Formats: sequence, structure tokens, C-alpha cells
Amino acid sequence: MFRDMRRKKQQLGEDECLAIIDTATSGVLSLIGDGGYPYGVPLSFVRVGKTLVFHSAAEGHKIDAVKANPKASFTIVAQDVVVPSEYNTHFRSVIAFGQVRIVEDRNEKMALLRALGEHYWPGHDDELAAEIGPRFDRMHVLAFEIEHLTGKQSLALMQ
Ligand SMILES: Cc1cc2nc3c(=O)[nH]c(=O)nc-3n(C[C@H](O)[C@H](O)[C@H](O)COP(=O)(O)OP(=O)(O)OC[C@H]3O[C@@H](n4cnc5c(N)ncnc54)[C@H](O)[C@@H]3O)c2cc1C
Repeated sequence: MFRDMRRKKQQLGEDECLAIIDTATSGVLSLIGDGGYPYGVPLSFVRVGKTLVFHSAAEGHKIDAVKANPKASFTIVAQDVVVPSEYNTHFRSVIAFGQVRIVEDRNEKMALLRALGEHYWPGHDDELAAEIGPRFDRMHVLAFEIEHLTGKQSLALMQ
């Protein structure tokens, strides 16, 4: 179903892809949006196993798109260094394809929200509980299950 990369020499291994995912602070979630127009929305996230976790308001373009079609991709640009003299960019990026579900189970939702908070501000359980508590019911948690993951970097960055 998913395509192979044409320029295999530039392809990153799975461990390198996961390292990029785990050090990125945000990425762009691409959904099939209103009227069939692609909707790429930047989001913070954390990876839990093969799942990318997002939080979201209960209303809006993003959540409507997820409800209408769970298929999505998520793109992270880990490096983008323009080298003018080469007419080139030394880049490193990752694209994941998968499906997004709205987490309904309250225990799972709480565990994923904690993972998200812990990722961005580790070791602050009390502050995190205070942040989540009053917002828990209004907040949505989205779980993006990775089905296909590729990473690519420019040749100049290959060892
Ligand atoms: C680095 C980063 C991290 C973020 N992290 C999160 C997060 O973890 N959770 C979260 O809920 N939101 C996050 N946001 C905000 C997010 O990008 C959306 O603005 C937000 O989620 C609302 O999306 P929506 O589709 O419900 O908005 P709506 O208001 O329903 O969108 C309506 C329209 O507004 C425009 N729009 C919406 N968002 C943006 C945007 N960011 N930039 C430009 N135009 C926009 C689009 O045209 C869209 O069609 C983050 C943004 C950035 C830049």
C-alpha cells in the first residue's frame, strides 16, 4: 500500500526515525479537511510505542477532519540548513502514515495525557495533575497509530 523511497541511499533506518521523533518538539498532522482540501496542522506530540499522542480541543477543523476520515500523515522536519553555495538544503525529516482515533477510554486518555505532559516538563506530577484536572472532560486526546514510517536525509549528511 505504501510507496518505497526512490532514493534509497538517503533513507534513514527505523532507529534513526524514532530518534528524530523523540527529540522533535512538534510536527505537522495532515488530514483530509473541509471540502477535501488537505489540512496540515502543526501540533505538539509525544510517542508512546507505535502511537503518536496529541491533545486537541473538542471542536474545530482538526477534530471534524479526524471524525470524517481517520487516515493521516505526520511530518517532522528535524534539520533544514540552507547551503546557498550548493543551491541545496541539508535536511533530515520523517513522515509517518497511520490512522487517528479519538481516545474514549478514560484510563487510557489520562495515561496518554500524562505521557504528553511528562514529555514536555518531566518530573512535575503535581503541576501536571493541576493542569489536566479541570480540563480533562473538555479535552480530546488523539492517538495516531503508525502504520508506515520513513525518514530521509540529504546525501551531504550521510556518513
Ligand atoms: C508548534 C505548535 C504546536 C502546537 N501544539 C498544539 C497542541 O498540542 N494541541 C493543539 O490543540 N493545538 C496545538 N497547536 C495549535 C494548532 O496548530 C491549531 O491551531 C489548533 O489545534 C486548532 O486547530 P483547529 O483545526 O481545531 O482550529 P480551527 O480554528 O477550527 O481551524 C480553522 C482554520 O484556522 C486556521 N488555523 C488553525 N490553526 C492554525 C495554525 N496553527 N496556523 C495557521 N492557521 C491555522 C486554518 O485555516 C483552519 O482551517 C500548536 C501550534 C503550533 C504552531
